[in-house]
This record gives sequence, structure tokens and C-alpha cells, in this order.
Amino acid sequence: MTKSAIALKTIPVSEEEEPPSSTITRRETKEEEPPSTGFVSRKNRLFRHVSASDWNDWKWHFRNRITSVKDLSRFIPLTDKEQSQLKLVTAKYPLAITPYYLSLIDLDNPNDPVRKQAIPCIEEISMGELGMEDPLEEKRDSVVPGLVHRYPDRVLMVLTDICPMLCRHCTRKREWHNGGWVRNDAEIEAMLDYIRQTPQVRDVIISGGDPLTLSTERLESIISRIRAIQHVEIIRIGSRFPVVLPQRIDAELCNMLSKYGPIWLNTHFNHPNEITPESARACDRLVRAGVPVNNQCVLMRGINDTVAIQMKLGQSLLKSKVRPYYLFQCDEVQGTEHLHTSVETGIKIMEGLRGNTSGLAIPTFVIDLPFGGGKVPLQANYVVAQSEGEIILKNYQGRLFRFRNPVYADEATGTEINTDGSPVVIADANTEKVPVPVVRR
Ligand code: SF4
Repeated sequence: MTKSAIALKTIPVSEEEEPPSSTITRRETKEEEPPSTGFVSRKNRLFRHVSASDWNDWKWHFRNRITSVKDLSRFIPLTDKEQSQLKLVTAKYPLAITPYYLSLIDLDNPNDPVRKQAIPCIEEISMGELGMEDPLEEKRDSVVPGLVHRYPDRVLMVLTDICPMLCRHCTRKREWHNGGWVRNDAEIEAMLDYIRQTPQVRDVIISGGDPLTLSTERLESIISRIRAIQHVEIIRIGSRFPVVLPQRIDAELCNMLSKYGPIWLNTHFNHPNEITPESARACDRLVRAGVPVNNQCVLMRGINDTVAIQMKLGQSLLKSKVRPYYLFQCDEVQGTEHLHTSVETGIKIMEGLRGNTSGLAIPTFVIDLPFGGGKVPLQANYVVAQSEGEIILKNYQGRLFRFRNPVYADEATGTEINTDGSPVVIADANTEKVPVPVVRR
């Protein structure tokens, strides 16, 4: 997952840890499909030849990821010019799409929001000079290889750089060419030792790449050792598997996770079209295993930058028992400029959501500051003015309300102070001139 992924040194994949190989082996079996559903008809458009058991097997999807322009052109009509452009782009930023995620694309729509997240476009290199390689300075706060300790009470364990899909907006796309490493036993033990010796760490985030590319057995050996550290209160996993390969969230994984709670999982839905019966089932399984699921969405131009889409996304996530957690302003990463929105767009979206749908469906809009500055929340300004003893607030309909703001006299000086002891500051002495009627409570 990008938002917590930290790039470190490249390590060769060991035999034990190697995820399923990525060779395209198109099978021509004609096995009978289960009864028709939306999912089956979607799958059938491109993958009719794939048996139901293969389709439900995450390792089959991983082995059969689409990783070249030639493979892609078998599924999506591409002109010669488009193929040439894509070859140029993928020479710098490779391509990897799971068959499942490819099946979500509306092939008749060049602006399909799923397509734009998965299929490269020429702007990735034609606008490639804008932005930075590593805006979050992810390498800076590493205390031992693979372990990042930036904030007081939490650390980030980066277990691998492998992802089931290469998302075009990824903050770590600079690393894609280093490809295919996982941390070895000695490195994992060094990370655990640091955590054992650092009692202020109460929250351990397991990330990548995508940590769920590791086998369930390997994950259990790591998670069980984290859980054995007394001062670690919660474990968090960052994974996009529920979105791009939900078959990974199987009974074996959920049974394992259920033994080591509290574990939280942060995932990364960006558009309501990504919420399917399969992804909803994956989230439901996690929740039933005692793993609450939060969503971190990235705001992207032409993909999800309207109130209507964000509202539908938030509402659909809640129906799938997923809490909308963050809406991120796109990071200043090279190769993603074409997807950036203005900050005002995000603020207007938040304003459009507030009051018009359940508060639970509304994420916090944040900018993850460059140079490791951390996350800053942003929203519309609802404080129109502040005067002595009251504050003027704008509600979601634009109506203004006076709200009494208790102040107290400082016994020593006789001046008015706020309840926390700070001096009263009048932000706008011309409140009475607000030209809109003010509604009193
Ligand atoms: S490629 Fe996708 S899933 Fe992997 S780290 Fe980047 S955004 Fe996250």
C-alpha cells in the first residue's frame, strides 16, 4: 500500500517466499460456470476459458497477471500508436494487472476509472518532469533495514516491495524496477528486536508493497512474534488485495488473523466500481474474523474527483462494512502529475459531502506533506466569524448560526479568557455586518 509503503534496499526473493510466478498461461478449458450473476458475466467477457476453481484461486490470478503490452492487447483493443506509446511508458514504469481487476474495466469506455488506475498512459512520461521521486522522504526514518520509526508510538514494517497490481498513481513507482524482494529472517528478527527494545511502540503497521503477497504461514510467523511483544497494543496491515485480488482474503488467512487481534486492515478503494460482490465478501470475511477494515482513497483527476463519486464510494464502503478513513491529496510523485487535482477540489468535495450523507461515510481529507512533514487534515471553513463570547458558524446549507462561546473573567486581570485560559481573540469585529440573516439557536 502506497500510503505507508517505505522504499528500502533491494533484496532477492528467496525460494521460500517467492510469490506465484507471473507467466501468462492462458488456458482454454471450457468448464461449466456457476449460475449467472453479475460477477460471472463480467468474468466471462474476458476470461470465459478460466475455470471457476482457478478464478477463485488467488495464486492463479497472481501467476496470470498481465505484465506486457502484448498481453494487454489480447484483452483490450489498442492501436499501433497506443501500443508504441505504452511500450515507452512501461520501459520506465512497468505494468501488472490481475485478471480479476482487468475484468472490472468497461472496455468501451476509454475514461473508465478502473482502467485509468491500471493501464499506463503516455502522460506518465510526457509530464514526468513534474513532481519528485520520493516526496515523502520515505527512506529517511529507517531505524533498521525495513523498519521505519517516524512517529512516537508507531512503527512501519516493510516486508516486501511486491504488489499484485501496479497502480498508476503509486507513490513508490520509482521503485518498480528494483522489483521482487522480500525481507529475510535475519532482517525480520532485527526489526522485531528494535520493537522489543522500544516500549513506546504500541502500534505496528505491516506494509510493503503488499504484505499479503507473503504466504499465510510466513505472515503468521511474523504476526505471532509481534503479538508476543507485551507493549504492542495493535497491529495494522496495509493491503490493496481486497480491491485488486479479493480472492486472497480466504478462510485460511482470516482464521490466522483472528488469532492475533486486535488487528486492523487499511485498504485502498478509489471508486465505487471497485466494490463488487467479491470485494465486499472479502471485507465481510475480515470483519467476521475480528479485523476492522478502513479505506484510504487517493483523490485523482478524472477518476474520483466529484462529490457524487465520493458520496457513492463512502456509502458503498459502509454497506461493505468498511469505514472511509482518509481521502488523500495525490502525492507530488513523478509520473502521476496527470492525475493530480487542485487542493480546492478536495475541499469542495468534503463540503459537498458534509451534511448531505452520513458522517460515517465521510473520510478525512489530508495532504501528506513532502519531506516527511506528516498528514494535515483540510476541510471547508465553517467558522465565518468570531466575536466576544460567540462564534458565527456556517452549516452545510450555507445558513449562518450564532453559537455561544463561553468566556470567563481572569480573576487576576479582569480580562476575558477562554475556558482553557487562553486570551479571547476577536477574529472579526465586523460580525454584525455579515449580510445574511443569522439564525439564533
Ligand atoms: S502499487 Fe498499488 S498497492 Fe502497491 S504500493 Fe503502490 S498503490 Fe499500493
